[in-house]
Amino acid sequence: MSELKLKGQTALITGGDSGIGKGIALKMAAAGANILVNYNSDKDAAEETVAQLKVLGASAICYQADVSDEADVQNMFREAVKHFGTIDILVNNAGLQQDAAFVDMTLKQWNKVISVNLTGQFLCAREAVREFTKRGARPEISKALGKIICISSVHEVIPWGGHVNYAASKGGIMMLMKSMAQELGGLKIRINSIGPGAIKTDINNEAWETPEAAEKLLKLIPYNRIGETEDIGNVAVWLASDESDYVHGTTLFVDGGMTLYPGFASNG
Ligand code: NAP
Repeated sequence: MSELKLKGQTALITGGDSGIGKGIALKMAAAGANILVNYNSDKDAAEETVAQLKVLGASAICYQADVSDEADVQNMFREAVKHFGTIDILVNNAGLQQDAAFVDMTLKQWNKVISVNLTGQFLCAREAVREFTKRGARPEISKALGKIICISSVHEVIPWGGHVNYAASKGGIMMLMKSMAQELGGLKIRINSIGPGAIKTDINNEAWETPEAAEKLLKLIPYNRIGETEDIGNVAVWLASDESDYVHGTTLFVDGGMTLYPGFASNG
């Protein structure tokens, strides 16, 4: 296999202008992919990301779309196909938190998180599947008809008080991913999730920015370091490549062992 594992392929990465999405974009570009960087609010960050991807030799554009808006998502996929010819890889990454104690959580907070984190993944995956099936197989490019990578979280399995909307959205992503994988595997569409643990990004900076916060967080991570966006980018490249062609319908936790219930190490 070529050094450039994703050569000739196009990836659409939602929320690709920041944090984990940007980390994945940089690694996929370095692996030879063309990239559509989706963003919602931060045009400057998206343009800066595109500039960095071009330095890596990638063909890249950015596109504003709210992933929870059906028309926005359909227009974004139309633009991707118009610009790049097709897409081969969808990275369903866009997500947010709106935290509150359970009794204080508003319906607006609940709906916002579910509609971006979960409905957004449904809308993008549906358009990707439509494009993969319309375009048909290209075995010279990839063994699969198309690949979908859902960015979930350790909170698809670890309950999270004070964040019930977020945890419910990630639990929902797990069953969305598995049900899609079961239904669409026969078409050779390969669908998996990555479940990040604590990765240093804007979504969680209060959890690692101060030494006290970082020390508290490290107690939850047996491997004893906080993750970087490139930890997720490296795994995403592999999951999108033919090297993982038999990996389908599973969540790869990339979490330094956060899902090992470290509280039980000395308390069993
Ligand atoms: P981040 O830096 O805050 O990035 C969030 C991204 O989502 C931004 O690019 C943002 O775009 C985009 N976004 C938000 N609402 C959107 C919408 N309605 N439509 C389109 N894009 C939207 O956070 P991150 O940590 O990289 O998070 C990325 C994903 O990783 C999320 O799904 C998150 O749940 C998951 N995750 C993160 C961690 C972690 O420790 N960091 C752990 C587990 C899972 P704009 O900047 O343009 O607004």
